Amino acid sequence: MLIPTLKENPADAEIKSHQLLVRAGYIRQIASGVYSYLPLGKRVLRKVEEIVREEMDKAGAHELMMSALQPAELWKESGRWNTYGSELMRLHDRHEREFALGATHEEVITSLVRDSIKSYKRLPLLVYQIQNKFRDEKRPRFGLLRGREFLMKDAYSFNESFESLDETYDQMFTAYSNVFSRCGLDFRAVIADSGQMGGKDTHEFMVLSEVGEDVIAYSDTSDYAANIEMAPVVMDYPSSNETPKELSKAATPEQKTMQEVADYLGHDLDKGLKSIMFKVDEQFVMVVTRGDHETNDVKLKNFYDADIVELATEEETRQLLGTGFGSLGPINVPEEVEVVADRAVEKLINVTCGANEEGYHYTNVNPSRDFNVKAYADLRFIKEGDPSPDGQGIIQFARGIEVGHVFKLGTFYAENMNASYLDAQGKSQTMVMGSYGIGVSRTVAAIVEQYHDESGITWPSHIAPYQVHLLSLNPKKEDQQRLADELYEQLQAAGIEVLYDDRKERAGVKFADSDLFGIPLRITVGKRASEGIVEVKERQTGKQDERNQSEIVDTVRQWFDN
Ligand code: ATP
Ligand code: MG
Repeated sequence: MLIPTLKENPADAEIKSHQLLVRAGYIRQIASGVYSYLPLGKRVLRKVEEIVREEMDKAGAHELMMSALQPAELWKESGRWNTYGSELMRLHDRHEREFALGATHEEVITSLVRDSIKSYKRLPLLVYQIQNKFRDEKRPRFGLLRGREFLMKDAYSFNESFESLDETYDQMFTAYSNVFSRCGLDFRAVIADSGQMGGKDTHEFMVLSEVGEDVIAYSDTSDYAANIEMAPVVMDYPSSNETPKELSKAATPEQKTMQEVADYLGHDLDKGLKSIMFKVDEQFVMVVTRGDHETNDVKLKNFYDADIVELATEEETRQLLGTGFGSLGPINVPEEVEVVADRAVEKLINVTCGANEEGYHYTNVNPSRDFNVKAYADLRFIKEGDPSPDGQGIIQFARGIEVGHVFKLGTFYAENMNASYLDAQGKSQTMVMGSYGIGVSRTVAAIVEQYHDESGITWPSHIAPYQVHLLSLNPKKEDQQRLADELYEQLQAAGIEVLYDDRKERAGVKFADSDLFGIPLRITVGKRASEGIVEVKERQTGKQDERNQSEIVDTVRQWFDN
């Protein structure tokens, strides 16, 4: 069997799931973010897939499989050919026709459904597939957590109305909770960003983990939880009773960062303004926040209802404002630049900001008096200690791995791609859609993040590649070999999944590999083989016991039933 274990962690593997899955011979990297699943890895993937299938089927979804190769025309119809960006893997066929490798399948499914469904009598419709997706991620890393080719379950719903979509969404939400519970994961469903796709509700399913790339803002007293990108800042900022002083300019030579400038001028970070230049679609925008706050580009994107938000380059900034990043500020900016500011800035008195002149800052700046803004809006990230947006408790942070995403798409795709149906009155109506994704391969990695110890993986019993790891310690000894062979037959005949290690290796090597693999029950045939006695050990707890050959099948069955 192809289980190439390694003694050392691969040099590029920073996190446990990546290290252990490679070391234990589950996966191998083929190119950056591209992996092959070896027999053990494939079995685990299949276990997770099966759980997903069962829950999808139970929710009334039907499995299909769409093409991974997608003609560019469909993406042009939805408009995403231009907005999806360089994550979309694009290619040409021999006739120079453009294609994409499926990063997601809204376009393909919408074209399928619009061509085949004409009547309200066929709605609602819920379909799913489990298939490799391709995304040319900027930073593929952490093994299976962020790949460029990865296994996803994607489901799509088509409904007559938003009310009907709400029902389907709730069913999928429940199905997702079931999937992740059955995978043994400690997770939370959090409110997420619905982006520019015209969607409404959307939730991400986050596995709680230190290595997660997402930050969850949750209330310490209620069940409110949101992706930090999304959590609105609801607090009222108090007015200051300081007397406004006259605007003046101060030299701040060599002071580059907010902190350096604040120290140099002798004030706290929250008495400075931070100004950052963005390009929002084609518009240059300066976003102003309080010095101790972080600009939230997702909120900026939503504020402008924009397709693309990116930082302006230092060169663009220099051209527009005549100065680089260190001395930017909202006073006297040219017309081409729009200024928007976070709500926390509005009532500030006597603060400092860059003077758009290398090495100078304005002091005693009073926003309402000294510069114009297009709007004051909620444009900053929420912070720990801020009030919870639901009005109950205060916000705390935790890190999470996004393993699933449910999304009310609304009519974005159906409108762009003309997916309509005739209602009971014979009137044409636009279909209302939802989409629902689970990162199947990412889920496998997330499980390892929550299930491992210093010796290896400790799979939950229903996820492990096999139920039992059978070791014959010394296959050269005839009684050991015979008993192990018999047990292997008996267990297999009982429908139990067994991995049988009959290699001619030292006992120490076999035990170490066994711990690394993480199969829940280990049965070791050793010295007492002649009496028909073997050792049974639980991987997770380390608990061990001796058992007679005749009890083994029942012992294993009972263990897995509990
Ligand atoms: P992320 O923010 O992590 O890039 P996403 O918002 O792009 O995720 P979706 O488009 O909602 O992800 O895809 C559905 C699911 O597919 C995600 O919830 C995640 O579990 C999984 N997924 C997305 N990108 C990757 C990737 N590069 N590697 C592995 N799984 C992924
Ligand atoms: Mg992504």
